[in-house]
Amino acid sequence: MINKVFSAEQLDNKDPLALKVEAFSLPDDTIYLDGNSLGPLPKSAEARASEVVKQQWGQDLITSWNKHQWISLPQLVGDKIGNLVGAKNGQVICCDSISINLFKVLSAALKMRPGRKVIATTRGNFPTDIYMVQGLLELLGDEYSVRYIDESNIGAQLSDDIAVLMLTQVNFRTGLKLDMQSITALAHDKNILTLWDLAHSAGAFPVCLDDCDVDFAVGCTYKYLNGGPGAPAFIYVAERHQAQYKQPLSGWMGHSAPFSFSPDYAPDSTVKQNLCGTPGVIGMSILDAALDVFDGVSLKAIDEKSKKLQAFFIAEAKRAGVLDYFSLVSPPIDVRGSQLALAHDEAYAICQAWIAEGVIADFRAPNILRIGFAPLYLSFTNVEKAVQTLSDIMVEKRYENATFQQRQSVT
Ligand SMILES: *Cc1c(COP(=O)(O)O)cnc(C)c1O
Repeated sequence: MINKVFSAEQLDNKDPLALKVEAFSLPDDTIYLDGNSLGPLPKSAEARASEVVKQQWGQDLITSWNKHQWISLPQLVGDKIGNLVGAKNGQVICCDSISINLFKVLSAALKMRPGRKVIATTRGNFPTDIYMVQGLLELLGDEYSVRYIDESNIGAQLSDDIAVLMLTQVNFRTGLKLDMQSITALAHDKNILTLWDLAHSAGAFPVCLDDCDVDFAVGCTYKYLNGGPGAPAFIYVAERHQAQYKQPLSGWMGHSAPFSFSPDYAPDSTVKQNLCGTPGVIGMSILDAALDVFDGVSLKAIDEKSKKLQAFFIAEAKRAGVLDYFSLVSPPIDVRGSQLALAHDEAYAICQAWIAEGVIADFRAPNILRIGFAPLYLSFTNVEKAVQTLSDIMVEKRYENATFQQRQSVT
């Protein structure tokens, strides 16, 4: 038996982020360990949803493009996100989805390294990242190819035929966190451009795009940034590359003067060139308001609390014997994002049984129970209760119940 050093209550009492939970509209009796998949609803976002629909759209109609700055939202929200990922203004734009944004950046990056025909990435990357490379390669023809590298010892696998190295900073399954600074530097030694996917980084811990000398990045906003289901994603293009950057989805919103209605495309010379069609104003407005929950909070404080929550989860799980049932497949804390992965053959049914008890986590094929730690609204008491519930499920084998075995379309 491991004795508790501090009780959950004591840890909550000295938690500087404890009051932030009040900024969210969370259902009662639910412990949410899935903010890494879909962040919960900030109250500020709820209020803005009503305001943008009823007032801005309903009353002010088309005048809102100017009156409520709808036209500038992609840049305004982009700069707000930039502030959370270590990018100074003018380098981040909010638009589209990660998938679409990868297509744009990869195409532009290949053009910037004309002699090179290889995109390098990892086989364990999130599938859409790999699929977008595969689709792009089909369009480009046989000259171009993808090279799959391992997540470990990346430097040794880099060669000067690679145009762009596309990596996700935190592995969506295991939580392994790559060293952005050193890998970017190793890539630059070979004149390789870097493209980082921040899906599980933005809003979870400090990211320093400018300081790490990153070339390009993409990320989504519905995970740790709590922007809402299908909220628009973002693109970072380092200022030094913007003059040469040319992406192929040449829609009118990325034109240097969209309202000149010229028949010839002339790209905007800034990160704004990444805009393609009309932005989804309602979703982006909600995201804009959702980001306000980060006001006055440092990413460092969020990261510190996440590490404490994770350590507390592991200690409690050991104490309750839960870890005897699972293998913990996440790497150590210093190379891990804000999540834990527990492997078990019955992980899907276990997750369903946990959800039935009001603890929401998720399952990632083939056998991972994935637990996300979002410190803005998760307490140590929540973690203690979640572990106790999981322990009951395992001891009583409640996951064997047929209703928990049935797979739903979204897992
Ligand atoms: C969640 C996630 C995505 C999602 O891509 P969308 O096109 O925004 O749906 C992409 N990449 C990674 C690494 C993710 O975790």
